[in-house]
Amino acid sequence: MAKCKLLEKCPFFNDQMQGAEDMIERTKQNYCLDNFASCARYQVFDALGRDHVPADLYPFQVTRVRQILSVVEAK
Ligand code: SF4
Repeated sequence: MAKCKLLEKCPFFNDQMQGAEDMIERTKQNYCLDNFASCARYQVFDALGRDHVPADLYPFQVTRVRQILSVVEAK
């Protein structure tokens, strides 16, 4: 599959978010290096731009994406 085009500047990929090391590595493999389109951070970036991606949003938190989009779109 495809690597994410945001790898270089992504706080999650560059270890700026907290979490167990094995979870972080597994998530990088599953999302950043394989299926970036499923990543919550990527989805918010794609819809709204980098400035709207919450600092604490993890790739697997896709259930938060709809809420983030609806809050921004309501403004
Ligand atoms: S897949 Fe998500 S977490 Fe990984 S580099 Fe891309 S935006 Fe960042």
